[in-house]
Amino acid sequence: MTNLRIGHGYDVHRLVEGRKLILGGVDIPWGRGLLGHSDADVLTHAVMDALTGAARLGDIGKLFPDTDPAYAGISSLKLLAEVGRLLNERGYQVVNIDATLLAQAPKVGPYKQEMAENMARALGIQPDQVNVKATTEEGLGFTGDGSGMAAHAVVLLEM
Ligand code: MG
Repeated sequence: MTNLRIGHGYDVHRLVEGRKLILGGVDIPWGRGLLGHSDADVLTHAVMDALTGAARLGDIGKLFPDTDPAYAGISSLKLLAEVGRLLNERGYQVVNIDATLLAQAPKVGPYKQEMAENMARALGIQPDQVNVKATTEEGLGFTGDGSGMAAHAVVLLEM
């Protein structure tokens, strides 16, 4: 019998002036960006936490501590590739990933396919195994007032 494992990831980053906005590895032109130790790619972080959760590897804070200078400003796609390596090492394969960005603005529709392709490439899987979607929160809460962005992701692994 195939051994299936589900994982969920959730992440939040604050939006600030003077930072690039990187989502799913795409550099999106926008006046502000997400604050964090790495490139603060909230979408990729949620995906990584879903993967590490499914594989019982803890979370990305444990794997890539934000106190480690090695990860300062690093592309989160590189961290995702490392998570993929750890999964392969343990015999896991990704069945599919579904990720949702929570952001009032900007509109990310034009970038969703590129985000999916970037994350698929980092994991060595096919783009059609990754779905990226986005929603506003109707102006409510910290995503709605533009003070931050959040992301959820669920994954299914098999071994
Ligand atoms: Mg994060």
